[in-house]
Amino acid sequence: MLNLILFGPPGCGKGTQSARLIGKYQLVHLSTGDLLRSEITRGSELGFEAKKLMDQGILVPDEVVIGMINAKLESQKNTNGFIFDGFPRTIAQAAALDNLLSEKKTAIRALLSLEVDFDELIKRILLRGKDSGRSDDQDPEIIGKRVNEYNLKTAPLIEYYKKQHKYYSILGIGSVDEIFQNLCSVIDTLK
Ligand code: AMP
Repeated sequence: MLNLILFGPPGCGKGTQSARLIGKYQLVHLSTGDLLRSEITRGSELGFEAKKLMDQGILVPDEVVIGMINAKLESQKNTNGFIFDGFPRTIAQAAALDNLLSEKKTAIRALLSLEVDFDELIKRILLRGKDSGRSDDQDPEIIGKRVNEYNLKTAPLIEYYKKQHKYYSILGIGSVDEIFQNLCSVIDTLK
């Protein structure tokens, strides 16, 4: 199986690039942000609790997202692999993912880290907020909080995957096509 993590701060292009990669490599896209937003739309208790944190730009508890990922892995048994987008975001989530995948006799092949500078991130998120209406994409203070959460809790994953020799840095600046090519040229060396 080809299991990839698309990694980087909010606004780096994970969602856009995942959508393209799943078509080319026949993978299943698992975005915890999308899963949480669909819980909110459904009006579930989980969605209600998650929204309170998401609206403040704070991460939801590890056990909530790990549970959602576990359920999705169970329901998708016959696939070439998964693209994890926005998950894992903490060391505890990364360790849980390693365990879940090893129970299924598979593993993460690579973490692809999209490198985008801070000013470009803010520009992209505000633009996305206008188009999508996502409340956490519209307030510069909340965006700042999300970037803070990333630096504090998520960036340490780089070391975690470097130790496993699975870390790849990808230039995340340029057109959507150019960034897609940057990703594909690394993925093609993995297959
Ligand atoms: P995203 O769509 O990936 O930017 O996620 C939007 C929000 O959902 C984040 O700011 C968090 O509040 C929450 N979220 C998404 N994925 C995770 C995760 N893996 N761990 C904790 N919180 C998450």
